[in-house]
Amino acid sequence: DPMLLDVRGLRIVLRQRDRDVVAVSNVDLEVGRGEILGLVGESGSGKSLSMLAALGLLPRSAKVDGSVRLAGQELIGLRERDMRRIRGKRIGMIFQDPMTALDPVMTVGAQIVETIRLHEPDLSRRAARRRAVDLLGQVAIASPEQRLDQYPHEFSGGMRQRVVIAMAIANDPELLIADEPTTALDVTIQAQIVELLDRLRHERRLGLVLITHDLGLVAGLADRVTILYSGRIVERGPVLDVFAEPRHPYTRGLLKAMPSSDETLDRLVAIEGTPPSPAGRPSGCAFHPRCPMAIDPCVSDEPSFRWFGAGMAACHRAHELEPHRQEVVHAR
Ligand code: SF4
Ligand code: MG
Repeated sequence: DPMLLDVRGLRIVLRQRDRDVVAVSNVDLEVGRGEILGLVGESGSGKSLSMLAALGLLPRSAKVDGSVRLAGQELIGLRERDMRRIRGKRIGMIFQDPMTALDPVMTVGAQIVETIRLHEPDLSRRAARRRAVDLLGQVAIASPEQRLDQYPHEFSGGMRQRVVIAMAIANDPELLIADEPTTALDVTIQAQIVELLDRLRHERRLGLVLITHDLGLVAGLADRVTILYSGRIVERGPVLDVFAEPRHPYTRGLLKAMPSSDETLDRLVAIEGTPPSPAGRPSGCAFHPRCPMAIDPCVSDEPSFRWFGAGMAACHRAHELEPHRQEVVHAR
């Protein structure tokens, strides 16, 4: 059985003011059925860009190379017409702000019915509506019959995100891509959405790519994690391993910056400095201007990956780091 999502050597070159800028390079990702991959990085790290490339949603001026296979089928280079049959059908999408995904002047029911019939034009409105009722039930929205006839503004933020999730699973996709799905929601609602996503992936054996800068979300939900910095992978592996024994100084910095449940403010030590823009990517290891462990070779030579157990990290000094256990996975 081929891997559900198998990304190999993804490279994205953007046209910026008459010059080509490498925004993403050498990115490999794998997601199995029923599995959640956390894709982590600061803004501008290339995490959303990578998924937009996989979905064929980048502007034509962007050059995308490498391979993105969905259950063995190559998506890179697919015609837009064919890609449209995959987006929303085999791959469901959930974005940060549910309001942008919903049409404010259409009832929720009409939008779900439209989403279903886009990929199943022969299905009657009645049958599509029955499925919409069922879908709202699956995302735990009470009184789904009545709710279908309401407009998005009549729903709370959390309920709207449930509607977006219902739409994302309406055509029974194999893979979900969720880009910061809980960022716009308050903490208690976040936890409910996390629970819902976790239930859906088990019930439906969905693969899920969870794009986020929130390591707490990854700790609570993902099986594996891939950490991007300036368009390159710096560390990847099983969540429990990477979080317990991070091998890359950037990963360590992110984990230190992560508030734990009992100590909050004093642990909010963010990594100093700002991530580079793709056009201003530093030489060697791109993290060197911010890295407390940087040495001369870091400025000139790009580090290659080394394996550490089931994970890997790209750092000249990763093997020197004493494993120092982080107590961040207590939430599980
Ligand atoms: Fe820091 Fe050098 Fe490792 Fe990059 S390669 S993370 S600069 S020690
Ligand atoms: Mg983003």
